[in-house]
Amino acid sequence: MASHLNRVAFTYDRTRYHPPEVSGRIATAFTAPVEKLFRDPLFLEIGAGTGRIAVPIIARGYRYMALDANPAMLEVLRQKVAGVSRKVRLLEADAREIPLETSSLHAVIAVHFWHMLDDWQRVLAECLRVLRPGGLLLEGWDQTEGESEDWKIQQRWRDILAGLGYPLSRGRHRARLAEVEQGLLRHGLEPKTRGVVEWVELRSPRMSLEAIAERIYSFTWEVPEEVFRLSVAELANWVSQAYADPDLEYPIAWKFMLRTSRAL
Ligand code: SAM
Repeated sequence: MASHLNRVAFTYDRTRYHPPEVSGRIATAFTAPVEKLFRDPLFLEIGAGTGRIAVPIIARGYRYMALDANPAMLEVLRQKVAGVSRKVRLLEADAREIPLETSSLHAVIAVHFWHMLDDWQRVLAECLRVLRPGGLLLEGWDQTEGESEDWKIQQRWRDILAGLGYPLSRGRHRARLAEVEQGLLRHGLEPKTRGVVEWVELRSPRMSLEAIAERIYSFTWEVPEEVFRLSVAELANWVSQAYADPDLEYPIAWKFMLRTSRAL
C-alpha cells in the first residue's frame, strides 16, 4: 500500500478534487458543530493525506493535528500549509496507535479512511480514546449519485478483469462504512449521517481511463501487475471504440456525506 501511496501523493488531488466553494462548505460542516460545543477547539484528522479536508480548515485558523502514516502524502500537505498557520502539527504515525493523550481532543476527523485497513476497530477505539467526553467523531466521504460514464468505464474494467480470471468486488468502501456504523453503535454512540454539498464534475472517458491506468484508486492496488497491464490495454481499446471523442466531457454528480457521533 505504501508504495502505491508514495506514487499517487502528487497526483491524488487531481482525481479527488473539490471545487473551492465545495471545500468551503465541507470545512464549515466539519467545524460548525464543534464550534458550537467548544471554544478554540483542537482537531485531529487521521489519514489526512494531502490535506483536501485539512487545508481549508487550517486556513480558517483552527488548531489542527494532521496524522498520516505515509510521509509522501504528508510532505504534500506540509508544502500546502507552510506559512498558512502556526497552529498546525503534522504527525507521521499509525492511526492504530495515536501518539496523543487520552481525552485530549475536541474533534476527530476521518475522510475516506476506513477502507484503508482491515483492523479499523483498533483505529475506532483509538479515536474514541483520544476524544474528550462530548467530543465529535466526524467521518466524511464523497459519493457519486447515479451511473456516470466514469462509473461505466470502471465497471467495464471490472468485467475485463473478471474475464481475465481476476474478479474484483464493487462497493467495498460503502460496505466498510456500514461496518463502522455498527461498530459505533456497539460503542453506544448515535451516529447521524447527512449530505453536506452536491456538485458536478466534468470528466472525459480519457481521464477516467487514465485514473485507472495510473492506479490512483485503492481498489486497483491489489491487482497483480501482469493482469493489470493486460486489463488496461483491453480497456483502452474498448474506450476508443465506445466513444467517438474520448475527450468529450461527461458529468459526474457528487455528494459529500458527513456522519457525526458524539463521544460519551
Ligand atoms: N483523508 C484524505 C482525503 O480524503 O483526501 C486522504 C484519504 S487517502 C484515501 C487515505 C490516507 O490514509 C492516506 O494518506 C494513507 O497514507 C492514510 N493511512 C492509511 N492507513 C493508515 C494508518 N494505519 N495510519 C495513518 N494513516 C493511514
